[in-house]
Amino acid sequence: MTFKELKLHEDVLQGLDAMGFEKPTPIQEESIPVILDDKDIIAVAQTGTGKTAAFLLPVLHKISEQKIQEGQINTLVISPTRELAVQIDQQLEGLGYFTIATSMPVYGGGDGDGFAREKRALQDGAHIIVGTPGKLISHLNLGYAKIDNLKHLILDEADRMLDMGFYDDIMKIINQLPKDRQTIMFSATMPPKIRKLAKDILTDPQEVSIAISKPAEKVVQAAFLAYDGQKIELVKYLLRDNDVPSLIIFASTKIKVKQLTRELQSQGLNANMISSDLEQAERLTILNEFKSKKLQILVATDVISRGIDIDNIDMVINFDVPNDPEDYIHRIGRTARASSEGEAVTFINNDDQYKFGRIEELIEKEIRKVKLPSELGEGPEYNPKRRGGSGGGRRPYNRKKGGGGNRRR
Ligand code: ADP
Ligand code: MG
Repeated sequence: MTFKELKLHEDVLQGLDAMGFEKPTPIQEESIPVILDDKDIIAVAQTGTGKTAAFLLPVLHKISEQKIQEGQINTLVISPTRELAVQIDQQLEGLGYFTIATSMPVYGGGDGDGFAREKRALQDGAHIIVGTPGKLISHLNLGYAKIDNLKHLILDEADRMLDMGFYDDIMKIINQLPKDRQTIMFSATMPPKIRKLAKDILTDPQEVSIAISKPAEKVVQAAFLAYDGQKIELVKYLLRDNDVPSLIIFASTKIKVKQLTRELQSQGLNANMISSDLEQAERLTILNEFKSKKLQILVATDVISRGIDIDNIDMVINFDVPNDPEDYIHRIGRTARASSEGEAVTFINNDDQYKFGRIEELIEKEIRKVKLPSELGEGPEYNPKRRGGSGGGRRPYNRKKGGGGNRRR
């Protein structure tokens, strides 16, 4: 299948050509015809499968084909984070370069000028607005946005938006939009709450779902059983003997991200973090430094594990085991994109063993458990049946060789 066979407008095909997209990915192949057909859709495919273009291309096509004039917002894309909004907007600029479509990202975080610029675009009715929920609401509440003729509402990374608590905000936005519109939902996963949201806001939707694929074969996966107190030393150990120009470390909480970054920096390592506490400009600077390999180690919560497009990472370290097994796949999908090999290493403390077992079930593969280097002392014993309990990540005070670990509740 080619993009031409999808009957996309010539101006859109030119953009694809300039971007170097040769043929549609499976999710693009399946969802573009549905969107071109003006049907509501819920489309699910894992990170990195090309969902952005899957919703942008048909919209760009319609704007080009119908020669829609500016003056009314045609398409509203809602995205959970600023980074993602920026990225969607960048892809939009590339894909839409040869079309008449105009666009504006609306994600705030900027100065007064930024707000004024956003206001103008909303007032003038740029074709496509890409924004985060909070910022969109602030603008919509002020009443100047030309939304009466809105044709497409797109929710990108819908699962992430619900995880981040945006349900009410999404509903607030939807209540201000014209009913006669096409609603398009994209998501990396399809948990029950996404089904429910789809039921609430879509009309007679088509469902397109590309089965979650196992992590790319090229990713070398390994796991260490380590107590929390051993994890930082373990990171340093892994960096010492390996040539790792580009590394992302995922940790479970913002506080851990901060502590870990500070600790790595104090050890003289080239590390920085991105977190929602940073100003937008700072976050972008750090991301860009990381992409251009000026920054070696990026520490993050899973905000960036989905959606954000950073290629060719040599290694991903899960400092903690992700809660959602599918997040594991998303995270390690950051490595070994393109054709390079990547490494994904997960640190498992006592409490996380059961969670890790669920990941292995999902990917139908047992991941190699590597023994801690002897200089770090002994780690916990491997016992995947063990369910997590409180505080078990700490090294027990009274450790018996071989015996312990059968706490039942
Ligand atoms: P998702 O939203 O599913 O995580 P993205 O839309 O961010 O994925 O796309 C992931 C990467 O794949 C991006 O770098 C994008 O430019 C690239 N890409 C998307 N579609 C194609 C295609 N048809 N051919 C080549 N590269 C593509
Ligand atoms: Mg995406």
